[in-house]
Amino acid sequence: MSDGQAPLIVWFRDELRLLDLPALAAAASSDRPLVCCYIHDIESAGLRAPGGASRWWLHHSLVALREQLQELGGDLIVQQGKSVDVLLKIAAQTDAAGIVCTRAYEPAQIALEVELARCAAEQGLECRRFPGQLLFEPEAVVTGQGTPFRVFTPFWKACRRLVEPAFPVPAPTALKFYPGDCNTQSLSSLQLLPHAPDWAQGWERLWQPGTAGAQQRLGEFLRETVENYAAGRDFPGLGATSRLSAHLHFGEISPRSVWHAAQQQARERPELVPEIDKFLAELGWREFNRHLLFHYPQIISQPFSPRFAGFPWQSDPQALLAWQRGQTGYPIVDAGMRELWQTGVMHNRVRMIVASFLSKHLLIDWRDGEAWFWDTLVDADLANNVGGWQWVAGSGADASPYFRVFNPTLQSAKFDKAGDYVRRWVPELAELPAKYLHEPAEAPPEVLEAAGVELGTNYPKPLVEHRFARQRALDAYAALS
Ligand code: FAD
Repeated sequence: MSDGQAPLIVWFRDELRLLDLPALAAAASSDRPLVCCYIHDIESAGLRAPGGASRWWLHHSLVALREQLQELGGDLIVQQGKSVDVLLKIAAQTDAAGIVCTRAYEPAQIALEVELARCAAEQGLECRRFPGQLLFEPEAVVTGQGTPFRVFTPFWKACRRLVEPAFPVPAPTALKFYPGDCNTQSLSSLQLLPHAPDWAQGWERLWQPGTAGAQQRLGEFLRETVENYAAGRDFPGLGATSRLSAHLHFGEISPRSVWHAAQQQARERPELVPEIDKFLAELGWREFNRHLLFHYPQIISQPFSPRFAGFPWQSDPQALLAWQRGQTGYPIVDAGMRELWQTGVMHNRVRMIVASFLSKHLLIDWRDGEAWFWDTLVDADLANNVGGWQWVAGSGADASPYFRVFNPTLQSAKFDKAGDYVRRWVPELAELPAKYLHEPAEAPPEVLEAAGVELGTNYPKPLVEHRFARQRALDAYAALS
C-alpha cells in the first residue's frame, strides 16, 4: 500500500462518540483511511474489568457507536485481548501508518499509552494522543507554587479563571474507511449482557446508552429541569439532576459539549445563571477527581490522607450483605441501595448517606463499598467513585471531616420530608405516616400494625443503634491522630 493510503487506527476507549472527538477529527483530516476500533481489554495489568451494570451499558453504547459508523459507510472493529498486542496486530495486518487515541488519566490506562508509544515507535508507527475527556488538562490547573490543588473550591476558582474550554469539534459527516478485513468480533461474543438471570430486564426503558440518548437527556435537562437545579439537586424524590453521569463516563457526550450547551442556555435565559453555575461546578467535581487520580494514582486503593492508613476497619460480612441488599432497617439507606440494584444509579445525596452509613456506622472499609458500587452502578467511574468514597469516609482530599457522621434518620427527614423516595423503593413501609417513615422503630405498635409493618419480620430492625454507632466511629477516628 502506498504510504499516503496507509490507514490510521482510531482507538476508542472511554469516548464512545463521534461528536467533539479531537482524535477522530485529526485522523479524518489526515485524509488517510481509518480503522476505528474498540478493544475489550480485561487482561492488561492494572486495568479494572467493568462491573456488571457497566457491562450492560457498554454493550448498548458499542451498538450505538457501531451504528453511527455504519451509517457513514464503515464499521467499529471490536476485538478482545491486551490493548497493545491487539493494536499492533491490527497495525501489522492493515499496514497502518499510526494510531490515535484520546488521552486518559487513570494510572493503568496511562501505562498502556506509554507501552503503546514505545512498541509503536519500535515498529515505525506514529502514535498520537489528543485531549477529549476533560474541560481542563491537569497541567493547566495548578496552584501558584505549581503544585496540584488538593481542595475543590480554589481548584474550581482557578479553572473558572482559565480561558473557556474550546467549542466542540463537529462530528464528521463523511469518513474514509480502510476497506480491508480486520477480523471484527460480534458484540455478543464479548458477553457483556447478563443472562440467567437477566437482572437488567426493563433497563432499556430507563436508559438510552449512546450519543443520541446523551444529547436528548442533556436537552431535556437544560429545557425542563435545570431551573430548579441548585435548590432541588439534594432532594432524591425530585428528579432535579441531569442523570448524565453514565453518558459522561462512557464519553458518549463530551464535557465540552455539556459546558457549551449549558452556557448557551445561560445566555438565552440569564435568570438561570446561578443554576447553571452550580451544575457546572458539579462537572467541576468530575474534573477535580480526575486531576486527583492523575496526580495521586495510589488513591485507588490507599487513603489519600496517610493518617487513615491504620484505620481499624471491621470485617462484618453479614452487615455488608444487609447493606448491599437494602436491609439495614434505616429506610433511606435501604431505599438508596435498592434504587441502585434496580436501576444502576443512586441519587448523589443518598450515595453520601449510604457511604457514610457503611464506613462510619458499620466501620466497614470504604473499599468494600466502592467495590459494590463499581459492580452495580451504570456510571461506575474510577475517579468519581474512589473520590466519592474517600470524601465520605473522611480519608480523601478536601474530605468531609471525620466527625461528620450523617444521621440517616435526620437526613431522610430533611431531604425526603414527605417520604416519596423511601415509599417508592421500600414499598413495605409505604403505608406508614411520614412522621414515622424515616424511623419505623420509633412508631407505636398500633401505627406499625395499621401500616402492615412487622419489624423484624417484613422490615428489619435497625442493624445498629445510631448513637452507639456514631460514638464508636468518633472514638475510632479520634484514635488516629
Ligand atoms: P448532576 O448533578 O446532574 O451532575 C452533572 C455531572 O457532574 C454528573 O453527571 C457527574 O459527571 C458530575 N458530578 C456530579 N456530582 C458529582 C460528584 N459529587 N463527584 C464527581 N462528579 C460529579 N459519579 C460517577 O459518575 N461515577 C461514580 O462511580 C460515582 N460514585 C460515587 C460514589 C460516592 C460514594 C459518591 C458520594 C458520589 C459518587 N459519584 C459518582 C458522584 C455523583 O453521585 C454522581 O456523579 C451523580 O449522582 C450523577 O448524577 P447526575 O448525572 O444526575 O448528576
